[in-house]
Amino acid sequence: METLNETYHEIIEEKKILIDQSFRDSVATVDRKGKRNFLFPKKPKGKLYRWRTIASLIYLVIFFTLPFIKIEGQPIFLFNVLERKFILFGQIFWPQDFFIFAIGFLASTVFIIVFTVVFGRVFCGWACPQTIFMEMVFRKIEYWLDGDAQRQKQLKAMPWNAYKIRKRAVKMAVFYAISFLIANFFLSYIIGIDELKKMITEGLATNYGTFFSLIGFTTVFFFVYYWFREQACIVVCPYGRLQGVLLDKKSMVVAYDFVRGEPRGKLKKAVINIDQGDCVDCLACVRVCPTGIDIRNGTQLECVNCTACIDACNAIMDSIDKPQGLIRIDSEENIEHAKKNKFNWRLGGYSTLLVLLVVFLAYLLISRKDVDATVLRTPGQIFQTQTDGRISNLFNLKLANKTRNNIPITLKLENMKGEINVVGSNLTVPAESYFQSPFFVKVEKNQISKRKTKLLIGVYEGNKKIETAETTFIGPGD
Ligand code: SF4
Ligand code: SF4
Repeated sequence: METLNETYHEIIEEKKILIDQSFRDSVATVDRKGKRNFLFPKKPKGKLYRWRTIASLIYLVIFFTLPFIKIEGQPIFLFNVLERKFILFGQIFWPQDFFIFAIGFLASTVFIIVFTVVFGRVFCGWACPQTIFMEMVFRKIEYWLDGDAQRQKQLKAMPWNAYKIRKRAVKMAVFYAISFLIANFFLSYIIGIDELKKMITEGLATNYGTFFSLIGFTTVFFFVYYWFREQACIVVCPYGRLQGVLLDKKSMVVAYDFVRGEPRGKLKKAVINIDQGDCVDCLACVRVCPTGIDIRNGTQLECVNCTACIDACNAIMDSIDKPQGLIRIDSEENIEHAKKNKFNWRLGGYSTLLVLLVVFLAYLLISRKDVDATVLRTPGQIFQTQTDGRISNLFNLKLANKTRNNIPITLKLENMKGEINVVGSNLTVPAESYFQSPFFVKVEKNQISKRKTKLLIGVYEGNKKIETAETTFIGPGD
């Protein structure tokens, strides 16, 4: 974050303000003895917090209803890593689709990098499941059970008595119950809601392995939301750790307008200090911060762009008749040069690239084949001369049917005249499964002039060609 803070410190230096740099020596969540410093952020209020609540509600409704939505009896999303079966937007993906996954993964990585370079860490505060569950579910329940920050601090400082034990027990029970619910839905994304219902109905005796996994997941969620909290973003999340290299001075981030705000100072009635900036050093922005930082120190790794400090500062600006936006979403460069216009060619160019990447990812999903066919010559076999003088080769056909219907297949030679004899004769590929069958290709000897001849085999479903498989036909040669 050094680059981002350079401008800030240059300007501060120009204004000859003594800066307390001690914030660099510590993180808000660890005290001087290295112990966990539990944070008690004040409950945010304001326009952005209301929007964030609405966005989170939509997100939660989607999260809890998606497992119930089905297309032709199959879930719309499934990430069954155990059986290596994945369903995205109702389309089944198999390990054969690894290529799409690899390209999709690369495109998604580029998308995330470009998105972060342009729009900063807005995903963390507004769309990341960790933040949404922490701030919009568990934190809200905490405010409801234990009261706002001050009441929570008092409860923590209080000696253990019946009241405190009851309060803690209720909170733990509620947090564990919600963690259990989340773990169940999490599992339903892996094994499917029907399988989950079946396991619940069958009971513990037959599914104790799954039950213990469920309790494991629940305990992890409980630990994260009850105790670990913001440290998941600060210490564990790899995306968070990358902010230092992804952000630059043009990135849109939650930022304090140091040009307008400094030199900060308490507002004294009847004293008009024209040298004083707009920041009245009330610390309202610090008190609401869920990661315990002071955004006035510049963009920091801990900032998840939750925008709570913007609401807090806007309320203060309203109360002292100053314009809102002392803390706002803006770039370091715009703030430095007091630019209002947030659109620039870089923003436009990167946004266009983001749209193109989304289109590319959609194309990858839509253009995926329903049936994958591979034809390989059977190992150890070369060619056979038939009693009628024709030359034959033995091949092996491998098919993966990714659809939910059985598919009858026929094979045709595309670049030679000859005959195909399938061993077993029935070439119907069952739905959602793999299939393989050996088959002979017999051709007249006069068609084979070389030892190796390119052979194209058409794989047809009725009259529709699904794929053309390319292989080599071995002959006796010259
Ligand atoms: S500094 Fe502001 S935006 Fe960043 S985490 Fe704290 S309250 Fe949220
Ligand atoms: S809320 Fe605004 S005025 Fe108060 S300390 Fe933060 S930046 Fe300064």
